[in-house]
Amino acid sequence: MARYIFVTGGVVSSLGKGLSSASLGYLLRSQGYKVRIRKMDPYLNVDPGTMSPFQHGEVFVTDDGAETDLDLGHYERFTNISAKQSDNITTGRIYSDIIKKERRGGYLGKTVQVIPHVTDRIKEFIKKDITNEDFVICEIGGTVGDIESLPFLEAIRQFSNDNGRSKSLFIHLTFVPFLKSSDEIKTKPTQHSVKELRSIGIQPDIVICRSQQSIPLDQRRKISLFCNVDIANVIETVDVKTIYEAPISFFNQKLDKQVLKFFKIKSRKRPNLQPWKKITNIVLKTGRTVNIAIIGKYVNLKDAYKSLDEALTHGGISNKVKINLVRIESDKLRSKQIKSKLKNVSGILIPGGFGKRGTEGKIEAIRYARKRKIPFLGICFGMQMAMIEFARNILKIKKAGSSELDNNCFPVIGLIEEWNKDGKIIKGTDKNLGGTMRLGLYEAKLRNNSAIKNIYKSNTISERHRHRYEVNINLMQKFEKKGLMFSGISPDNKLPEIIELKNHPWFIGVQFHPEFKSRPLNPHPLFSSFIKAAKSFNGK
Ligand code: GLN
Repeated sequence: MARYIFVTGGVVSSLGKGLSSASLGYLLRSQGYKVRIRKMDPYLNVDPGTMSPFQHGEVFVTDDGAETDLDLGHYERFTNISAKQSDNITTGRIYSDIIKKERRGGYLGKTVQVIPHVTDRIKEFIKKDITNEDFVICEIGGTVGDIESLPFLEAIRQFSNDNGRSKSLFIHLTFVPFLKSSDEIKTKPTQHSVKELRSIGIQPDIVICRSQQSIPLDQRRKISLFCNVDIANVIETVDVKTIYEAPISFFNQKLDKQVLKFFKIKSRKRPNLQPWKKITNIVLKTGRTVNIAIIGKYVNLKDAYKSLDEALTHGGISNKVKINLVRIESDKLRSKQIKSKLKNVSGILIPGGFGKRGTEGKIEAIRYARKRKIPFLGICFGMQMAMIEFARNILKIKKAGSSELDNNCFPVIGLIEEWNKDGKIIKGTDKNLGGTMRLGLYEAKLRNNSAIKNIYKSNTISERHRHRYEVNINLMQKFEKKGLMFSGISPDNKLPEIIELKNHPWFIGVQFHPEFKSRPLNPHPLFSSFIKAAKSFNGK
């Protein structure tokens, strides 16, 4: 049976449970173990697909087309294990399954209750789809003490009782503040948080203490004493300068060693930290900066374009430059300001998006990038906007638009009627907004003599999608005649996947989201190439 590691958080949110779980995942995988990382989210949405990025940050899309929590992105980037639909669950999904079953009469007249029905369903999720994994790391969203996370905590308590305490390890991540006024590190919030956890019946085996500075031995002893945790298992995590240092820092703090010790396993080999040291060095030492503008609706929230920010940083790592993201809010971008706002940027990126607000600003910025020959990358909605810009200004179709935004436009972009998934035809006309898009991995064929083929160095690619609209393929000849090439297309020749401008040093639009597949240790070729072009852009 796999060993289960449950990660909970206490005191405050945003302590980096995701990053800690991901780093531990890397350290174990690097020693040759098979690892899965999963996330349980206590909110009532069935999945984050319909949640605003303002509220919850980006929606991360998996190969198998699940719209999941952005923490799964961290896990993938650090461990290079592709997450699956079965790796993320929410309270909403659990209740929705239970209520469906109840309506079908599946509970045979019984009263349906949180214990045992909800907790049983959570326990099913924890074990589902696990075959020969050595370790399953399960992160529980939220903070201990929240009403919402109680059923999850109860379920993991039961799980360890059902499966044997020696098969379940509890890690609790807390915050250890430093009080400037008294020049002291305070352990009380950690003590209280562990007390809360113990009142639910969970005794943590390892406490990870997030702190701004190193925690002196005396305070660590205190945490050990009050929390009933072996001193060797009181592990500190001091703020790192770049997230790529996290696996190194957790290794130095012996997190993986203590985890293996708990399960009475001998380490097979030392984890390979060389690649992390190398990129940490590059990130901290590179002096040269390249300014990249991201023009979108959600730029004010740091996590709204998490994978994209990361992928750009990875592109910077492969070109040994720092990326300075110039975040521009699209709805505030007026034509008159374009020149001044984009004056110092060497690359323009329009990310994925939904809805009309801010689209005219994006279209204007694309026009500027096209005319000034500034490297441009349009992702999904960004590509669709680039098609509209070209249709209006070059093909002179004044009413060119997207039927997502305007019913009376000339639809250069229209609803995808149907698509082919593994030989099956899927209709895109479902009126539900949740879970009805073309989601997950789909292939594209790349055209000969295209920039994109040169970048990927391959005839076909497979990338993750999340869209409901597509470029109108019937306009292909019209566009191509004027120098906009359809350089990638679905294998059945029906759905345009990539466009590029011939008469431009670097102008590419993609219908998919390459950012989800970029890794710090393996930067995505599209981002490396985009940053390379931006690096050599001389501005005039
Ligand atoms: N709103 C557009 C569509 O549904 C683009 C989606 C996106 O950018 N992810 O096709």
